[in-house]
Amino acid sequence: MLWKTHIAFCAYTLVRRPVFDIVGRSLSSMAAKNPFIRDKAYIGGKWVSAKDGSSFEVKNPANGELIGSVPDMKAVDAEEAVKVAYDSFQTWKETIAKERQVILRRWDELVKKHKDDLAKLITLEMGKPVREALGEIAYAGSMIEWFAEEARRIYGDTIQAPTKSKRIVVIKQPIGVACMITPWNFPSAMITRKAAAALAAGCTIVLKPSEDTPFSALALAELAEQAGVPPGVFNVVTSSRASTPEVGKVMCTHPLSAGISFTGSTAVGKILMRHAADGVKHVAMELGGHAAFIVFNSADIDAAVNGAMVAKFRNAGQACVGANRFLVQSGVYDKFCDKLAQAMKDELKVGDGFQAGVTMGPLINERAVEKVEKHIKDAVDKGARVLLGGERHSRGGNFIVPTLISDVNTDMIVTQEETFGPLAPVIKFETEKEAVIIANAAKVGLASYFYTNDIPQAWRVAEALEVGMVGVNEGLVSTVETPFSGWKESGLGKEASKYGIEEYLQMKSIVFGGI
Ligand code: ADP
Repeated sequence: MLWKTHIAFCAYTLVRRPVFDIVGRSLSSMAAKNPFIRDKAYIGGKWVSAKDGSSFEVKNPANGELIGSVPDMKAVDAEEAVKVAYDSFQTWKETIAKERQVILRRWDELVKKHKDDLAKLITLEMGKPVREALGEIAYAGSMIEWFAEEARRIYGDTIQAPTKSKRIVVIKQPIGVACMITPWNFPSAMITRKAAAALAAGCTIVLKPSEDTPFSALALAELAEQAGVPPGVFNVVTSSRASTPEVGKVMCTHPLSAGISFTGSTAVGKILMRHAADGVKHVAMELGGHAAFIVFNSADIDAAVNGAMVAKFRNAGQACVGANRFLVQSGVYDKFCDKLAQAMKDELKVGDGFQAGVTMGPLINERAVEKVEKHIKDAVDKGARVLLGGERHSRGGNFIVPTLISDVNTDMIVTQEETFGPLAPVIKFETEKEAVIIANAAKVGLASYFYTNDIPQAWRVAEALEVGMVGVNEGLVSTVETPFSGWKESGLGKEASKYGIEEYLQMKSIVFGGI
């Protein structure tokens, strides 16, 4: 068994962690303590530099300190990775499902074993509090565990033939080299939600993580290697923001790439779909959202406030399923605003994610802070009232005070664009019909939430919302069991759940004649 010898080999080949980056600058103390900081990318089972030798720095968004540097790979490196992945596919696709299951399970066990260091790595790279990062690692691991099981549940079909002499069967086979581009907001979970499904299906992978969070990706690759994923089956190409477009293009157009699975902004998703169209590649797109969070008069307001805190402020508001606009019926509008303001004061403590008691970290970068500020200013200029926050945090940097604004209307940018930050704008509405029209006015349709105790209304509204996921009296919809998918400009394809593996499988109809 190829993978058995590979595991034994891996036990001796753990890469030593650098205390200095590629060009000798010392790393921040938190980074120096983390055993997963690497200065190489991972292709063909080897830790490699960019062919041109270039690298880029990754900094902690909480304090700007250097975490490390990784290779700045270009198109030529991505081409190499796709070729290697294609060669490895020839043997990986021949593995039986149980072998893949065993490897994936072991990968999950290793993620669990190293959860503390993996969580701290997330906090270092993207800033969320360690407790929240541990939650992400649990979610990331649940994807591996789930798809380890799904590997053995890939079924085909037998179909009644139109004549006596024929038999028809349908089998499912892996699509080939699955290329993936992932974002920084969930640096581990967005990878395992794709990669575990692809590996379970029998595909090989070329992954380009976000330039802001490459270390989580490299850590997952290292643990995959230890778990017995053979060389070339899981490859990680790291690239700076400037080099990313050429790498993305290779992933979408290379003749040996079977397709692209992307999580990120709708704007980038459209670019990748255009590239992929040329070769009619498989595409799976998890794109932007603009979730409406609706509170009806009959709602349990305390439950709605609890749900709002999770749906809005988890990840400092940097989640594509995060509530982006609150629609509150007139009878409970003031009560909801008061209680939400109180909960925000009581529960949100802004600071460095490594500090005890902190529940909200920094935003990812200055650009993200500026976007939130722009949305607040535009709303206030057009008549919104600031109930809480409304400014940068006294810590400076990428920290912003959680903000609640009322008297919001649909002329304001905040109700038209995804904010991706800790800003809760509240719109007042009168009728159910009005709320549904406002909610559905968005071009995107990823998630929505609403609170009501009126059962017929729950059904009507759940069916009327033009989104892929609805939380009814619930502020957290994504679990491994739930299909994750967007409508409209929020994307194509499904992740997690029993459907997630389908993105990496293709059907083949086999017709037997002469019987
Ligand atoms: P954000 O602005 O929040 O970083 P993006 O959609 O720009 O969201 O980024 C998500 C992922 O897409 C990241 O891995 C990023 O490097 C990548 N990306 C950004 N621009 C491109 C592009 N032109 N082609 C391919 N990937 C891209």
